[in-house]
Formats: sequence, C-alpha cells, structure tokens
Amino acid sequence: MSTEIEAIEVLIVGAGPAGLMAADILSAAGHHVVIAEAKPSPARKFLMAGKSGLNLTKSEPMERFLAAYAPIPETLRDALEGFGPEEVIAWAEALGQEMFTGSSGRVFPKAMKASPLLRNWLARLSAQGVELRRNWRMISADATIGFETPKGVKQLKPRLTIFALGGASWARLGSNGDWVELLSPLLDVAPFAPSNVAVSIDWSSHMTRHFGTPVKGIHVTAGAYESRGECVISARGLEGGGIYAVSRGLREGAPLLIDLLPDWSEGRVKQTLIQRKSKETLSKFLKRAFRLPPEKLALLMEFAGPQSKDLARSLKALEITGAELRPMDEAISTAGGVRFEALTGDLEAKARPGWFFAGEMLDWDAPTGGYLLTACLATGRLAAEGALRSLA
Ligand SMILES: Cc1cc2nc3c(=O)[nH]c(=O)nc-3n(C[C@H](O)[C@H](O)[C@H](O)COP(=O)(O)OP(=O)(O)OC[C@H]3O[C@@H](n4cnc5c(N)ncnc54)[C@H](O)[C@@H]3O)c2cc1C
Repeated sequence: MSTEIEAIEVLIVGAGPAGLMAADILSAAGHHVVIAEAKPSPARKFLMAGKSGLNLTKSEPMERFLAAYAPIPETLRDALEGFGPEEVIAWAEALGQEMFTGSSGRVFPKAMKASPLLRNWLARLSAQGVELRRNWRMISADATIGFETPKGVKQLKPRLTIFALGGASWARLGSNGDWVELLSPLLDVAPFAPSNVAVSIDWSSHMTRHFGTPVKGIHVTAGAYESRGECVISARGLEGGGIYAVSRGLREGAPLLIDLLPDWSEGRVKQTLIQRKSKETLSKFLKRAFRLPPEKLALLMEFAGPQSKDLARSLKALEITGAELRPMDEAISTAGGVRFEALTGDLEAKARPGWFFAGEMLDWDAPTGGYLLTACLATGRLAAEGALRSLA
C-alpha cells in the first residue's frame, strides 16, 4: 500500500533555536510553515543550555567576536554580520527578556533560564500560524521527506525545506547525528568531532578532596588555542569554560598546559623561588610567596611533584599529562557537519536546490561564551532569508 504524500509550502526539520528562528522569519513573511520535530517537545538542548545560565551571546567588538570562529567560513561571517550580538540582544528583548552583560562580556537574560524566552517564542510562532508536529522523526530525504510519526510513516512534499537537525552530542535531547546517514550520500559532510568538552584524568587519591573545586585565575593553552578563565576539578577530570575553549587544540593532539600564575612573568616567578628559606616546606613556601590556593597546589603536586626540576616552568606551564577528551555525547557542541563548500551563500545545497541548512549541523566550530547560540540563530535567519528569496 503506497503512503499518501502531503504537499506543503515550507518544511523545517528540527525545532532547536536554528529551526525556530527560520520558522519565525518565514512565517512572519506570511508563509505557511510546518516544523517536524523528533522529540515530544521542542528545543530540549536550548532548555538544557539555560540550566547553567543561558549565555545567548557575547558583547565585544565585532572583529574579536568573529575571531572566535576562526577559521571562519565566509557564509558564517555574512550570517553573523547580519545577525550578531546586538541583534541577538534586541531579539531576546522583543521576546520579553530583560538582558544583562556580565563582566566577561557574556550576555544572559536576567531570568538566566531559557524557558520564559522559549514560551514567548513558541507563542509568537503559533500566532504566526506555524504548525509544530511533535514526535515526527525524519527517516528519509529525497523528492519527498519521510517521517516516522505516532500515526505511522508519513511523506511530505514541501516546496522548500530547511534542515536544522543539530550536531551529535547529548543524543537524549534529540540531536543524535543520525541525519548524517540520510544526507551524506547527497551532500558533503565533514565527520563530527567533540568540541567544548571536558577532559578525563585518572587522578591519584590525593585529589579526591578537591573534587568540585573551581580553579580560578588560570590561563589554559593547547596548541594554537588559549583561554583565560577557570575550570573545575571533578571526579572524572577537568571541566568548565577554560578547558572547553581549547578542545580544538586537544583534538589536534596538542598538550594541555595550565599557567597557574598568569599575572606573574616567568622571570618574577624564578626570582621569588630563590627566596625560599631552607627550613620552609615547599607547600608552605608556595602558599606564602605566591598565594597559591590548595587546589592549585594540588594540581602542581599531581603533575609536577615536589621534585619538579623546573618549578618555575611547572607553575607557568603545567603539563596536564594523560588528559583525554571525554566522549562526544558529553560535548557541549560538535564540530563537523554539512560543509559550507556544498552550499550557496544562502545556505542552500548546490546539489539540491530547495534544501537549506542551519545551526550546529553546519561545519563550524567555536568556544562557549554565547558564540554557539548566536551562530545557530544567525544561520537560521540566513537560511530563512535565502528561502524567502527562493519562494519569491
Ligand atoms: C549542557 C549544554 C549547555 C549549553 N549552553 C550553551 C550556552 O550557554 N550558550 C550557547 O551559545 N550554547 C550553549 N549550548 C549549545 C547550544 O545549545 C547548541 O549549540 C544549540 O542548541 C544548537 O542549536 P540547533 O538548533 O542547531 O540544534 P539543536 O538545538 O540540537 O536542535 C536540533 C533539533 O533537531 C531535532 N532532530 C534531530 N534529528 C531529527 C530527526 N531525524 N527528525 C526530526 N527532528 C530531529 C532534535 O530533536 C532537536 O530538537 C549548550 C549545549 C549544552 C549541551
């Protein structure tokens, strides 16, 4: 028995921030939009992002902002120049969110959570006639797009489709990367890799009492990537923004180095080290002379030991030996995805006119700090604008 084919105007697959942004723009322009979402509710990862404070964007000069995506694909640059930090803030404010900028330039809604923003956004989409089909999982993509739904397999024949299926981490929230199998025969897709991910470390028992402790005021380096910030010592290893920011370097095999005294020059550290009194224990001296807190001292002892041959070097560039990236499913984001070379400047597949792509499923990478969501929203908008031109 052949499945009935339903003709629709615009189909968006995936109800994360990228898909919802595309739906917003197309429906505001008067088009009938159907969003098909595999999960029973939309934007689960977006809601999860809000659990630890929804960092929507970063307030900083545009060139510095764009440098976070280096090497930035030209189309992503265009997308972000059209919808960057200022536009993200205005968009969130229009959805009833009072915003604030933290001391590091990171921008959050005052509510910190994603749920009030999402509630208002979904209400606006509904008022604009957007139809959200929940529990609709895409299982085939060709001339028609096939879905497994609670009422069996359905086939849609849209005039135009925007895919916004996300990356390949936190699969339980919906973005499991299964789309690669469906789309890679038709499109050039770069393999996924974990980004913004913690590292595993096989700690000695001395570290147990520091689990859960933040290590503040450090400078972290891995290859060409560096970050000034903090990390947290956990039972499994090290996590937090300072580590996530250098995941790209770790992925490329560079060692993880931590400067425990970023405000001290190596020369000053050396000068201070020779002032140690013979009777003073090393740990007492380090605490006194450098105001080294217990967690930094513990890291120093764990990786350099009391017999370190070059203590100044260890304090300034402590090599975290044996650090391994945690599995991809635990990553905040994933690199890899549909290559920009396969797409036009409107994010439309060169080989498949009428198919547009947006969000984390595209092949770009950036650290945490609001860069991820800004790029998802900006590419959702760019794809929708391309779709509008195509529909016209
Ligand atoms: C713990 C955590 C905290 C984060 N915090 C921040 C933060 O503070 N700031 C920041 O900028 N970023 C943050 N991020 C990253 C950010 O949430 C993601 O980059 C963003 O949600 C990606 O948006 P997207 O729309 O591209 O994809 P997603 O949000 O992943 O949405 C994709 C959607 O597609 C659906 N889908 C997938 N496959 C199918 C299919 N076959 N059929 C139908 N539907 C399908 C999924 O169910 C999902 O709803 C965080 C991520 C995590 C995990």
